[in-house]
Amino acid sequence: MIPGSTTYALQFGSETIPVAVCFRNQKRLSITVFPNRSVQAIAPAGQPLELVHERIRRRRKWIAKQRSFFQRFHPLPEERRYISGETHLYLGRQYRLRVRQAANTGVKLLGPFLYINVPDPQDTKTVKNALDAWYVLHAKKLLKERLGILTKVMKPVQTMNIKFQIKNMNKRWGSCTKAGLITLNINLVKTPLSCIEYVILHELCHLSNREHDSEFFKILTRAMPDWQQRKQKLNMFIF
Ligand SMILES: [Zn+2]
Repeated sequence: MIPGSTTYALQFGSETIPVAVCFRNQKRLSITVFPNRSVQAIAPAGQPLELVHERIRRRRKWIAKQRSFFQRFHPLPEERRYISGETHLYLGRQYRLRVRQAANTGVKLLGPFLYINVPDPQDTKTVKNALDAWYVLHAKKLLKERLGILTKVMKPVQTMNIKFQIKNMNKRWGSCTKAGLITLNINLVKTPLSCIEYVILHELCHLSNREHDSEFFKILTRAMPDWQQRKQKLNMFIF
C-alpha cells in the first residue's frame, strides 16, 4: 500500500470492496487493481473524499472487470499448511514439500522435492519458519547476483552507487527511492528468472527516471524489448 493511504469499504452493488485511497499532487484520479484483487486509488490532493468515492464508484464496471480477470486467471491461493505433498514455488516452478523428522532443522531442494528436516514434522510453524528462511537466503543471493549483472547492462547507471535490500512487500515487486535504494520483494524468487530480471531492470530504469512516462518506457524497451510479456507472466503470481 502507498504510505498515507486509508482503506474504505466501498459498496459496489451487492459487493463491498476495500479500496485504499491516498492523495497526491496530481490532476486526475488513478485507480489500480492488483493481481491479488486489491484496489488502490490515488486522488488529486484537496479533492473532497465524497467526490473521490463517487468517482471510484463510477468506474465500478472497470474495477469489477479487472478483479474478475485476476480471479479467473488465478484463484486466490489456498491457505498454506506446510505439510508433505503441498506444492511451493521456486523460480516459477512447483516443488513438492517432503517434511521429515531430523535432529537438525534444514531445507534442501532436490529434484522435484523441497525437503524440510525438522525435529517435529507436526510442528508446522517450525516448518514454515524453516522454509521462509530458505527463501530469504536464496532471495538475497539470487537477487543480488541478478542486480549486479543487469547493472552492468544498463550503462547510464553503471557508475552509480546502488544500495539494495530485500523485503517482504505486500503489493509491490520492487521500488526505488530518489537516493537510489532499490528494494526487491523476497517473493520474487518464487517467480521465473525472466520476471525477476524484468522487475530489477524496471527499478534500475527508475534511477535515471522516477516517472512512468514515455521516456521511461523508451529506456526500458531499449534495455528489454520483451518486458511486457515478462510483466504479464509476473501478473500470474500472487502471494
Ligand atoms: Zn515503476
